[in-house]
Amino acid sequence: LPQNFIDARPILEQLQKHGYEAYFVGGSVRDTLLETSINDVDIATSAYPAEVKNIFKRTVDTGIKHGTVMILDHGQGYEVTTFRTESGYQDFRRPDSVTFVRSLKEDLKRRDLTINALAMDPQGNIIDLFGGLNDLKAKTIKAVGQPAARFHEDALRMMRAVRFVSQLGFTLDNQTRLAIKENAPLLTKIAVERIHVEWIKLMLGKDPQKGLNEFLKTQMFQYCLSFKEHEEGLKKIAQLSNLNLHSEIAVWVLIGHFFGLKPEETGQMLREWKSSNEIIADVVKAQKALNHFPVLNPQVLYQTGLPLLLVANQVAKYENNALPEATLSDWYNSLPIKSKKELQLTGTDLIKNLEFKPGPQIGKTINSIEQLVLNGKLPNKKEALLHYTKTVM
Ligand code: ATP
Ligand code: MG
Repeated sequence: LPQNFIDARPILEQLQKHGYEAYFVGGSVRDTLLETSINDVDIATSAYPAEVKNIFKRTVDTGIKHGTVMILDHGQGYEVTTFRTESGYQDFRRPDSVTFVRSLKEDLKRRDLTINALAMDPQGNIIDLFGGLNDLKAKTIKAVGQPAARFHEDALRMMRAVRFVSQLGFTLDNQTRLAIKENAPLLTKIAVERIHVEWIKLMLGKDPQKGLNEFLKTQMFQYCLSFKEHEEGLKKIAQLSNLNLHSEIAVWVLIGHFFGLKPEETGQMLREWKSSNEIIADVVKAQKALNHFPVLNPQVLYQTGLPLLLVANQVAKYENNALPEATLSDWYNSLPIKSKKELQLTGTDLIKNLEFKPGPQIGKTINSIEQLVLNGKLPNKKEALLHYTKTVM
């Protein structure tokens, strides 16, 4: 068993000692059976939150309304969630209420996919009540229970299903696919932010082509903001061989590029997707740089910065425009300056030495000098820059 389970085992045993059931559940069980690495372990128990808090000395109410209590132990935090069912779902998202229950089966039944509905006891025995083990073996993504009903409860599950197709390289079960196709319009009820998370995970998965093809085939793309206008662009992306991106920024640069958007239009699309201003700025910058590949003048190198140049380069591969990374870094590293801070002339120098008055002229002068240094027309030396400013400008 991975170390995370061994570390958490005493917590589960403690719950058992007090007469409750306790299991590892969710992604960590799935990923362990797939022999891939796991992040954090989720623990589910028949003990109610108040009962959990009675057993352990140090706890934090991290999500008490949903039944989650964090147990602090040897400087580690373990989230323990009471078995629960959900009911309501009047708006195709989130349940109206959660009810704590004593039965593991009830808890596993409300989970999205069979491969996510496995439990493991502290001794390492797998509890498989919905055929998850079979589907893991067959590499199948399948909803727990009646797929259509499950997607009515929470439409995000449709995106999650296709995200896992990409992340695990699994195949979508036929009935599940059919139900997604029928219920895809429900995606419009889901907060953009939640769809966004799944979309990025899909695009960064190990088999994004497969995920994208399902995203197209099931028509989900029709209900994801402006994607409905870009079926062709999405298809082009789905046909790229060796699609293998490493960051959210790269994903959006690729999309902007293959949708045929100008960098600013990509930025506009990202505002609809509720991306952060930081991400938007980086995507726009990187896509602007991409438009120059493979010829990059000092201006472009300087304005883009090395990290975003490398992102643009990743995307340039799909147009056979990419540069060897070493070449790109060499070009960048041989710039005379990497930022304004490195310029050996400041506004204060202009005031002190050349009797400039505070005002817009200072900024303008610094900008012109910056360009000259960047293009190798002037050495980055204070004396030389002052002399040039005084005699020529
Ligand atoms: P990841 O490795 O991406 O974290 P995960 O399976 O752990 O994958 P989480 O979003 O962390 O995914 O959710 C933990 C578990 O909660 C899932 O394995 C699943 O059992 C359940 N779950 C999560 N979201 C939903 C949902 N929308 N509907 C039903 N069950 C869900
Ligand atoms: Mg998880």
